[in-house]
Amino acid sequence: MASDKRVKVTLECQTCKRRNYITMKNKQNDRERIELKKYCRWDRVHTVHKETR
Ligand SMILES: [Zn+2]
Repeated sequence: MASDKRVKVTLECQTCKRRNYITMKNKQNDRERIELKKYCRWDRVHTVHKETR
């Protein structure tokens, strides 16, 4: 049975505002909105990607 502690989040590039990644996070480890540095293929650099809904 799938646990409700793991939720799906969308990561949005803060530079171009495109939604580049969908990932899973553990609600208990990440209570706040997560922020990750990831490669944006539109900007062609690593940018900050933030969780969005
Ligand atoms: Zn971008």
